[in-house]
Amino acid sequence: MRRNKRVQNCFSRRDFIKATAAGAGAAALTGLGAEEAKAQGRPVRWDKEADVVVIGAGATGLPAAIQAIEGGASVILIDANTDVGGHAILSGGNMALGGGTSRQKKYGVVDSPDLLYSDLTDWSVVEPNGFPDYRYNDKEVIRAFADESAKTYEWLIARGVTFVDKAPDTLGGHAVGNSAPRESHAAPLEWPQVQTGVAVSPERRATASSGVGLIRPLEATARKLGVQILLQHKMASIVRENANSGRVLGIVATNQGKTVNIRARKGVIIGTGGHSSNVNFRRIFDPRLTEEYQVAGEPYSFQDASGEIAAMTIGASLWGAYNQSGEFGQNVTKAGWIGCQYGYVNLSWQPDSPIFSLARATGLSVKDYQNAILVNQAGLRFYDETQGQFPANNYDSIKPYIPRSYLNAANVKYSPSNFINAALAGTGDTSPGGGPIWAIFDSDAVKREGWRVAPPYVDIGGGYFFAADTIGELAGKIASKYQRKPMPADALQSTVTRYNSFVDAGKDADFEKPTPKFKIQTPPFHAAWATPVIHDTRSGLRINAKCQVVDLKSGGGSERRSHPRPLLRRRVRGRIQLARFGAVHCAGTHRRQERCRGENLKA
Ligand SMILES: Cc1cc2nc3c(=O)[nH]c(=O)nc-3n(C[C@H](O)[C@H](O)[C@H](O)COP(=O)(O)OP(=O)(O)OC[C@H]3O[C@@H](n4cnc5c(N)ncnc54)[C@H](O)[C@@H]3O)c2cc1C
Repeated sequence: MRRNKRVQNCFSRRDFIKATAAGAGAAALTGLGAEEAKAQGRPVRWDKEADVVVIGAGATGLPAAIQAIEGGASVILIDANTDVGGHAILSGGNMALGGGTSRQKKYGVVDSPDLLYSDLTDWSVVEPNGFPDYRYNDKEVIRAFADESAKTYEWLIARGVTFVDKAPDTLGGHAVGNSAPRESHAAPLEWPQVQTGVAVSPERRATASSGVGLIRPLEATARKLGVQILLQHKMASIVRENANSGRVLGIVATNQGKTVNIRARKGVIIGTGGHSSNVNFRRIFDPRLTEEYQVAGEPYSFQDASGEIAAMTIGASLWGAYNQSGEFGQNVTKAGWIGCQYGYVNLSWQPDSPIFSLARATGLSVKDYQNAILVNQAGLRFYDETQGQFPANNYDSIKPYIPRSYLNAANVKYSPSNFINAALAGTGDTSPGGGPIWAIFDSDAVKREGWRVAPPYVDIGGGYFFAADTIGELAGKIASKYQRKPMPADALQSTVTRYNSFVDAGKDADFEKPTPKFKIQTPPFHAAWATPVIHDTRSGLRINAKCQVVDLKSGGGSERRSHPRPLLRRRVRGRIQLARFGAVHCAGTHRRQERCRGENLKA
């Protein structure tokens, strides 16, 4: 087995022997007898086994698998999907890695782990809408993140990731701290994009940024090192010695209807991504997020909370929920493509995509919201259509920035930007979600935007795009399963009539849309799905700084730090709202850090 020297140094032989001994213990426990195992709800036989079993082959799972195999472990990596990558392969490939990366140094950016830590734990920084970015971050976890951030950047390069050769910037990142630019970008090279089915044009291969440039090199490295990747294997449960105590022994997965029990001699790593696609689970954090909301990443990758649920079933807990409920950046976004079910702004599904049959339409991009109004399920406008999602801080966005000073808040210009809240508010009835949002426009708008209102651009068959010769008829045609009530024709007609009067008056008396320009008056009229999109999971299982999942019943504070009761390993992503590829840190460098620490302690 090929082993990276640097990593090998971090994972001492003594560690390995210790871990192997623990594994032998686990084997003895599983050998208690079929009856007892059955009585305790554990598998009576293991179909496969490895030292480390990793669940999910995305931004967490792939680096974790590589790190484990480089440390000398045998590794099985499973993924429920037909291909690797999860949300990460669809992502922009923008990675907020700072603290003094080689790229930061090359371009003269001053940064350090302490500066990064200070930025990401600064209670005094607030968004233009008043929400604090960093106040509720877990300092223990952020300290580890800050210490390992730069090393993770180098780790990725050593495992095949090519970064765009330019100075770190702020593109694609939000809230990565005020003190230094920290965004680097994975070059897509020649890898085909999942969303288009083809590689980006040759002149952009080294300069664009894309998750495919992160995931495909890591996949290639993992395979080359001998990680056994099992696709279409969905983890159904995690097996622990006892219901809520003892070692984690392995997992139960399903593969095309068959149960596969996989024993993990040394550890299980959960890299299942999160819970944005699980309606009931995401509503733990925000009860408004009912079933109609789109999720960025679908229909390729569904984060269905299976990791959280499996871990919570055997004793884990959630943690750091504010980062998911807080209103900043891309928590919930305005639809970027309308007239299709999956319209996240940076993800347009093209007919050559291998999963286009699931996406069904590319959608229409709105260049100018003067060409459409947005109405809720009751046919009523709710806000200035030109507004967008929640704002976010970034490098240099608070000036002057004085670390941990109350004056920072005073330097932020208050700007609530409540478009998303208005969309989610609904129509004043008792239904918890806001219901669908529809873009309404006429044939003149179609010409001005240069749209083609037919498949594959819009999804007529799926119920995400409608056309009619009158506004009243259009309202009657909107027959989405997500409409809790039919849209009243008279309500939509009076909304359009009133909006047209604002065009005559040159002023939007309801929502102050800047000088409404165009009437909606020329048939055919159209209604295109424009419901907001949930972007990420931003909180997850309780972990310590070693990315070990900690039981709910374990103590907190110093007790937790000195006597953690690790359950199993888990990605950190959800907990570091500020750097979504924190998962890479966790699975890669945090694990390395943990091993290095162990060795240092012994030395
Ligand atoms: C369109 C888009 C753009 C983004 N752009 C950026 C960006 O530019 N920068 C950034 O930092 N972040 C970005 N993000 C967020 C980033 O992609 C995620 O934070 C990151 O991928 C999370 O990594 P993960 O490993 O936890 O989950 P994922 O990458 O989603 O991987 C989870 C994997 O687990 C698998 N899985 C789930 N449940 C099971 C199960 N029960 N059994 C087996 N397998 C399972 C899934 O199939 C999936 O392959 C973006 C996200 C999207 C959707």
